[in-house]
Amino acid sequence: MPLILLTNDDGITSPGLQTLQAAISPLGQVVTVAPDRDNSAVSHSLTMNRPLRVQRLTESSYTLDGTPTDCVSIALGKILKRRPDLLISGINAGPNMGDDISYSGTVSAAVEGTMYAIPSMAVSLAGEPPLDFIRAGKVAARLAAMILARGLPENTLLNVNVPGNPLIAGTKVTRQGRRIWENSIQETRDPRGRCYYWIGGGTPLKDSAEDTDVHAIRTGYISITPIHLDHTNHEGIFHLRDDWQLEEQEL
Ligand code: MN
Repeated sequence: MPLILLTNDDGITSPGLQTLQAAISPLGQVVTVAPDRDNSAVSHSLTMNRPLRVQRLTESSYTLDGTPTDCVSIALGKILKRRPDLLISGINAGPNMGDDISYSGTVSAAVEGTMYAIPSMAVSLAGEPPLDFIRAGKVAARLAAMILARGLPENTLLNVNVPGNPLIAGTKVTRQGRRIWENSIQETRDPRGRCYYWIGGGTPLKDSAEDTDVHAIRTGYISITPIHLDHTNHEGIFHLRDDWQLEEQEL
């Protein structure tokens, strides 16, 4: 029976994680290790400056006072008896597309799994509250079965976004788009009249390219992006070597 590790960044009590557990449990032995509170936008951070404590909540569910990456690391190193056959992170409340995936704790947990050569997938529900995770749970289960049967390309995770509207147009395999936020820093005043800032909100500038995750979601499709661990711009290597002649320079 496959061993499947679940985690998320919204925290152990998040309804998206509970829906994922219910949808995935028919596929194998499911173990959940998730943060004890909301860790959205913590990216790939690893806690190295304080102790981490694990709490066992049920036979197959654990929480710890750390980040999604901490959860994956401690699950693989200390909690699970063997390597899992699959890691799923989510279902996130809200999209993880374009440039935002750099900030995403959900996607970073899947990156961490991929670094350990475990087939990994991040699943996000790209809707507005009130969110209904049921359809995204079904999508996750179908894709999970496919990954268990076929594996994934080397050093590659799947970043899956499911539209909030249950009337789904279809499925698109996409590339990571661009998503720059405008007016996302709110400046306001506290009760004592001092200025403070709050990051979040604002409006995303639209990526019009049709093959992107952003465009697929905007047009009602499930978006599946294969994300590679290697951030290198391979053409950039030739540009720096040949045009800049960087290796010939004394630096
Ligand atoms: Mn989140």
